[in-house]
Amino acid sequence: MTLQPHPVPESHAFSSRFVRKYLSWIFLLVALVILSMFWGFHFNATAMLREQMLGQGRAFLTQIVLHREWISDYGGVYVRMRPGMENNPWLLKVPGLKVTIRDESGETYTLKNPALVTREISELAEKKGGFRFRITSDNPLNPANAPDPFERASLAEFKRGAAEASGYERRSGQTFFRYMAPLAVRKPCLSCHAFQGYKEGDVRGAISVTIDATSLIRQIWIFRGYLTLSALAILGALYGIISTISRSFLRELRTAEGKLVEMATRDSLTGLLTRREMFRLAEWEGARALRQDRPLSALMVDIDHFKRVNDTRGHGTGDAVLKGVAQAIRSTLREYDVLCRYGGEEFLAVMPETPLEQGRMAAERLREYVESLKLAVDGGEPVRLTVSIGLALLQPGETLEELIARADAALYAAKESGRNRVCIG
Ligand code: GH3
Ligand code: MG
Ligand code: MG
Repeated sequence: MTLQPHPVPESHAFSSRFVRKYLSWIFLLVALVILSMFWGFHFNATAMLREQMLGQGRAFLTQIVLHREWISDYGGVYVRMRPGMENNPWLLKVPGLKVTIRDESGETYTLKNPALVTREISELAEKKGGFRFRITSDNPLNPANAPDPFERASLAEFKRGAAEASGYERRSGQTFFRYMAPLAVRKPCLSCHAFQGYKEGDVRGAISVTIDATSLIRQIWIFRGYLTLSALAILGALYGIISTISRSFLRELRTAEGKLVEMATRDSLTGLLTRREMFRLAEWEGARALRQDRPLSALMVDIDHFKRVNDTRGHGTGDAVLKGVAQAIRSTLREYDVLCRYGGEEFLAVMPETPLEQGRMAAERLREYVESLKLAVDGGEPVRLTVSIGLALLQPGETLEELIARADAALYAAKESGRNRVCIG
C-alpha cells in the first residue's frame, strides 16, 4: 500500500508571484528612468564636446581667412631670402608673376602666396600645439594641397551648397576633429589663379582645420565610465533595496496567509479540520479509492448526552470536554485518516485503505477509549462520557455525501438502540 500526500491547501505561490511581478515592474520602470537620465547626461556631454570643437574650428578658420585675405589683397608678400630658402616653384608657373625681387642694396626677396603662408603657419602651429590647417582644392596648384578623403567628401558637399563640414577621425591611436569651410574665389585671387579658369565667387577650394581631440575624447570616456559606474551602482542599490523590501514583505505576507489558511482549514476550538477542508481532502481520497478499487470507510461520531455537560458544568467545561474528546479521537486514528469537527459535538473520520471489518474495529477501539476516559477539565469531578458511532463503507459509484448520509443514518440507529455503540450503515 502506498500512501500519497494529501493535496496541500492553496499555496502562497500565487501572492509571492504577484508581489514579485509588481516589484519587478516597479524596478524596471525606475531603472528605465535612471538609465534615460544617464543617457541624457551622456548625450549632453557628447553634444557639448562637439559644440566646443566646432567653435574652435570656426575660430581658427576665421583667423586663417583674415590672414589670407590680407596677403591676397597685397598679391602676396615678399620675404627676405635666407640661406637655404627657395622660391615657391608653383609660383614660377604663373605667367607674369615676379617671384623674386631684389632691392637697391642687392638683397633678394621671394614671394609668399596665401597657400604657402597658410602651409608654413600650419607647420608652425603643428609643432607648437595641437592643431593644423591647410588650404585644399580639387585642382590645387601644388599637389601637396590635394584633398584627403575627408576633404574630398567635404568639397563635394560644398558644391552641393553646404556651408561647413566637420567630423571625428581616428588615426594611429589619436582622435582628430576635422573642420572645413569653403573658400570663395575673390578678385585678388585671380591675379594668380585666372589661368586655371577661376572666376570670382567660385568655390574652388576650402580651408581644412584639424584639431587634436585625443585628450578631450579621453576625458569624455572617463566621464562616461564614471556615469556608467554610478548608474550601475544606483541600479544595484535600488535592486538591493527592492529585493530586501520584497523579501520582508513576502515574509509578512506568508505569515498572514498562513494564519488565514489555518483559520479557513482548522476549527478554532478543537484544532481539527473544518468541514470544508475535510470535504476537499476526503473527496480526493474517495476518488482515489474508487479509481484504484481500494476500500474506504467513514465514521460519524457523536457525543452522547453532551447537552448535560453544558447544563450541569457550564459551557466552558463543555468546550474543554469537546477539546479533550477531539484529541482522544485523533489519537486513536491513523495519521492519514481525515478527521474533522462535523458539527457541534459531532466528528467525521474518513479512513482510506479501510475495509468494513477494520473500520468496525477502529470504531470499537475509539468508542472504548472514550468510555474509559476521565476528563479532568475544570478541577471538579472528572467528566466521563460515551460516544455513538455510525460506520459506512464506500460503495462503487457512491458520492461522498451519500457515504456520509449512510454513516449518519447508522449513527442515528446507534442512538436509537441505546447509545455508546457502533452501528453499520
Ligand atoms: P444525544 O446523545 O442525542 O446526541 O444528546 P446530546 O445532548 O449530545 O445532543 P443534542 O443535539 O441535544 O445537544 C448537543 C449539544 O451540544 C447542544 C449544544 O449546546 C452543544 N454544543 C454544540 N457545540 C458546542 C460547543 O462548541 N461548545 C459547547 N460547550 N457545547 C456545544
Ligand atoms: Mg450528542
Ligand atoms: Mg449531535
